[in-house]
Amino acid sequence: MRVLIVEDETRLAEALVRLVAGEHIQADMATDGEEGLHLALTVPYDAIVLDRMLPGLDGLEIVRQLRSHDITTPVLFLTARDSVSDRVSGLNAGADDYLVKPFATEELLARIHALARRPVEFVHSNHLTFESLEFDLQTREIRTSEENMELLSPKESQILEMLIRHSGKVLTRRQLMDNVWGYEADVLEGVLDTYVHHLRKRLLAVSGPVIQTVRGVGYTLKKAD
Ligand code: CA
Repeated sequence: MRVLIVEDETRLAEALVRLVAGEHIQADMATDGEEGLHLALTVPYDAIVLDRMLPGLDGLEIVRQLRSHDITTPVLFLTARDSVSDRVSGLNAGADDYLVKPFATEELLARIHALARRPVEFVHSNHLTFESLEFDLQTREIRTSEENMELLSPKESQILEMLIRHSGKVLTRRQLMDNVWGYEADVLEGVLDTYVHHLRKRLLAVSGPVIQTVRGVGYTLKKAD
C-alpha cells in the first residue's frame, strides 16, 4: 500500500510519514500543492492525505484537477477549521472523507485504511488474482486453469501487476510508464502500446480478463465478456 501525504507544515508531514510507515504503508510526502498534484497525477496511490490550505495550489484545486483527469484515488482532506462550508466544499470538489485538525493519529490511520480498502491478501503475497485469473509474480505465470498457462515477460508482468492492484480504476498511460520504466526513462508512448498489445494476446490465450482502453486516459482491467 502506498499513500501520498500533501501537507505544508513540514514537521507534521514528516510525523505523518513516520506514523504510516509504522503500519508498513509506504508514504511519499509533498509540502506544496504543485508537487502534490504532480505526484498524484503520476503515481497510482492507494490513498491521498491532502491538506486544505497549501501554498501554490490549495487542496480543493488539487482534488478538482485529479477528478477532472479521471483519477479516482480516494482523498482524505485535512481541514483546520471545523466549519460546515469547509467540509462541504471539500466533499463537493471530490474528496472522499475529511478530518479536522488537530486529530488523533489512530483516527487518521483508521480513515486511511478504510479509504484504501485494500484486500488483505494483496499485502505480502507473490500471488495476485483477478476474477478467474491467477498470477504468480515470482514465476510470472498467468493461468486460469492447470493447462491454461502463459509466461509473461518482466515488463508485461509489471504492467499486469499494476492493472490488477488497481483494478476498478483507470490507470493513466503516464502512471503505467513511470512505474514500469521509471521517472527518468524517456519512453515513447508507442512502447507501452506494444507491451499492452502483447499482454492482451497472452491474456486472451488463457481466456483471462481484458485490458480495456479508456480513450484519452489510459487502461483498465475488465472481466472478459
Ligand atoms: Ca496547511
